This record gives sequence, C-alpha cells and structure tokens, in this order.
Amino acid sequence: MEWADELAARVSGPQVVNDSKTPSGTVHVGSLRGPIILDVITRALRAAGHETTLLYGVDDLDAMDAQALLTPDAIETSMGVPLAHIPDQVGDGHASYARHHAQVFIDLFADLGVNPDRYYWMSDIYPTGDMDPFIRTALDRAHVVRALYRRVSNVQHPDTWHPVLVICPTCGRVGTTIVTKWDGEQVFFECRPDLVTWARGCGASGWVSPFGGRAKLPWNLEWAAQWSLFGVTIEPCGKDLATAGGSRDRSDAIAREVFEREPPINVPYEFLNVGGKKMSTSKGRGSAAHRIVEVLPPEPLRTLMIRTRPQTALDFDPEGTDQVPRQFDEFDRLAAATAGKEVKGELPPGYEAVFRYALRDAAADVAAEAAAFRPSFGHLAFLLQVPGADIPALMAAEKGSALTDHEQAILDERLAAARIWLDDYAPERARMRVQEALPDGASELDAQQRAFLATLAEESEARTGDEWQASIFATATAGGLAAGQAFKALYLAFLGRPNGPRAGWLLASLDRGFVAARLREAAAGGTLPT
Ligand SMILES: [Zn+2]
Ligand SMILES: [Zn+2]
Repeated sequence: MEWADELAARVSGPQVVNDSKTPSGTVHVGSLRGPIILDVITRALRAAGHETTLLYGVDDLDAMDAQALLTPDAIETSMGVPLAHIPDQVGDGHASYARHHAQVFIDLFADLGVNPDRYYWMSDIYPTGDMDPFIRTALDRAHVVRALYRRVSNVQHPDTWHPVLVICPTCGRVGTTIVTKWDGEQVFFECRPDLVTWARGCGASGWVSPFGGRAKLPWNLEWAAQWSLFGVTIEPCGKDLATAGGSRDRSDAIAREVFEREPPINVPYEFLNVGGKKMSTSKGRGSAAHRIVEVLPPEPLRTLMIRTRPQTALDFDPEGTDQVPRQFDEFDRLAAATAGKEVKGELPPGYEAVFRYALRDAAADVAAEAAAFRPSFGHLAFLLQVPGADIPALMAAEKGSALTDHEQAILDERLAAARIWLDDYAPERARMRVQEALPDGASELDAQQRAFLATLAEESEARTGDEWQASIFATATAGGLAAGQAFKALYLAFLGRPNGPRAGWLLASLDRGFVAARLREAAAGGTLPT
C-alpha cells in the first residue's frame, strides 16, 4: 500500500485526480480497478493533507466502432455515430446508448466507496464552448500534431490532415469525417465512405465551424485537453494505454508540445484477468461489473483490487472455484491482523493500510471495523444449506454476544452474496446434502476410520464448528489416523461422498443426538449397536 502514500508524499499543493471512460458497452469487472485505485490515491492524498478533487469523465462523443455491440437493425444507422447520439438499446429510460452503459457502471461507485466530486460528460462539455480554445490550438498547430504522431507513435497522417473530427451535419457520424483545411474560423471537412472499414460516411463535405459542439478532438488530444481544462495533476491509466509509443505517450507529448502543459503523474495499472483471459469491454457477460458486485460486496472487492501493487496483473476466476470465499477470507484476515490478532499465512506489506483502504467508508473508525464480528463466508454458504439453521442465533453464539446493527448488516450482506454464490458460482464440493439415512458410501470405511467415528461419537464438549474441528483433529491423531482419512470418514457417513465443506461446521450445524447416532451407526457398519 506504500505506493499510494509514497505518491501522496511526493506531490505538493492542491491535487486533481482524473479518470475517464468510453462507454462502448457493458463494463467488465476489471474496469473497476481504475476507479478503486483512483479512490485510494484520493484518500491517501487527503490523509496527507492535500486538498484533492476527484473527477470521473465519460468520453461519450467517441464513435461507436464495434458492430457486435449493436442490435442488427442499429448497425447501418449507428456505426461511426457518437455513442451519446445512439438511442439506448435497452429501452429503460436512459437518454442514449452511452448514458445507459456509463450509468450502469457509475451507479456502482457510491456503494464501492468511490465518490468523485464531479462527473463530466464530454457530450455536455463540448456544447458549452469550454473545449473551443483547445480545438483552435490543435488546428493552429496541426503541423506540430502531425510531426508528433510521426515521432512518438510512427503514425503518418497526410499533410492536409487536421486533428479535429467534425460531427457530420448530414449523417451525424463522427468516425467517418476528416478535416483537410482550416481558415482560422471554419474547417473544410469530408465525410468519406471509405475513410474507415467499420463505418461508411455519407459523402457530404463543406466548410463548417468546428466550435460549440459541432466537432470534437481525436481521443489523444481530447485526453490532453481534459488535463488542461480541469487542471489534472494525477491520472492513472491501464497498462494497455501506457506502452512505449502508445496512447499515453502520445497524449503526454500533446500536452507538452501542443497545449504547453506538463502532463499529470501517471500510475499505470495492470489488468484484472477474469477466467484466465483479459476480458475486454465488449465481451464477457459473466464478468460484467454490475453482476460481480452482487457476489463480491465492496470490501472484499476493494481488497481484491488493491491488495497487490497496481502494476501486478490479477487473475480472478469466480466460476466453479472458491475465489469468492477467498476474497472474503482475505479481507477478514486483514481485519483480524489490524485488530492485533494472530493470523495464518503471509500478510501483504502495509496490511493495516490495505485494510483501511479496503473499507467502503473513507471516514470509518478503522479500529472498530477491524474488531467487528464478521462471519466466515464459507460458513454462511454452508449454513444456508442446513435446513432449519437459525443463522443469526448461531452467529451470536459464535461471537459470544448479540450482533451490533453494523454486524447484522455485514451478516445480511454476506448472506445475500452467499445465496448468489451457491446459485451461480460455487463448485460442487461446496454444495452438500446431509443424508437422512446412513449413505451406502459408509460401507467403504475401514476399521481405523470406524474406530475414529466411534470415539468421536463420545465427544460431549464440542459445540461450535471450531471446537468440533479441533476435536476431529485430536481424535484422529490419538487414533493414528491421517486427518484426510478422518474427514473422508465423516463426509461418507453424513454426505455419502468423500469430500465436503468444513467438517466441524457440518457437525456443529446438526442436531447433537443425530450426530452421535450417525457416528455410532457408521462405526458399526450400518447396524446400530444395542
Ligand atoms: Zn438504459
Ligand atoms: Zn456524413
């Protein structure tokens, strides 16, 4: 976590942190890494005493360039059109395609603890005229921009190319237009049928004013202009943009040489790979940000995103794995360590800061949060499968006192997530069904396992899952039985299969008399001893 505090230590004066996104489709959960990193930087800056503004922008005048994202009837009319000018395809009341996808994404922010001071939409900014000075400068310095593209990115534009994109007054496309002349007030544009392969211009051309929302800057210039317009001092960006000669280098050079301003500090961050591949915005319904947050609430999700340095690539594969429970466990481990309790396994450097920055509420009482009772996610997922389990009562018993309102809210949030996890993500081994009669599988038990079960049947002290777990280990060890064989015996006796969720929880969740009888029955090989 030092990276954020180090950053805060090396800057001076008021800070403006910015990020922006092109709302080209359903947003993948990996896209939350940026906003969460932005938020952590903002919190670190504020903690260090810097007056800080957090901005989040939507680049919604960018052209639609992905046919796959459109319904078939919209392809002809919408390819090349600014995202802000395409109707909402879902028809749930948003003003445009861009508003729909950006809003579904942005709506997640507040609950994640990400609270930009201002959201801006480029489709709102251009018509105000605020971008006009930058458009004028870019046109006046078109030769500088062309030379810079050649030098930084090896991109050769024709000598007549000017760095402005007119929104065609005839067909409304922005992706198909090119400006070839500039007379100081108007530009000469052509909407070419063959300028790009992915959209077809209408063939219109003529002199128009590029100001007041009639044109936009190409993306790299728009990015650099945003830095000047908003006074941005820090802007992290995804690693795909931060390559040598890539987008960020281009915009940095544009900032210096065209708009004559030092670019903001970059904090490049790596991707979050879901299910083993880098999911782009355009793919992956199963990894949509608004879906993943249903199973991974803000704090475990923030933990996932910030536990490692931004430059570390992350793999997250929630389907059919225990990665979701593991994110909860990791957050709980950070909480326990922060509360001064001993925890198993290695802790990340600066784990207290990781915990603090993982909290949804920037102003939370960190010590109180660390000490709060948080039921294990795996345990809850297990208890949800135990018919008649009184989960709030069991949790109060585990804690040793009644849950506070805050702890009850944590419990409710985790139960909701665990239900979704069991329905949509959990691996088979996390599911269980206690067999009402001794399962056939119990006939596989050997003599040592039977002896272990018989001894365990006499256990009268264990009440909680942890106590049962300890008793299972002690009894197995005393009988010279490997722990794995002991657990297998229990799973066979109760579930009729060789594996299952934590055995201690299983025994603690069941009626005590039932447990003792089943253990004796299995030990006796199916015949209850008289
Ligand atoms: Zn909508
Ligand atoms: Zn046109």
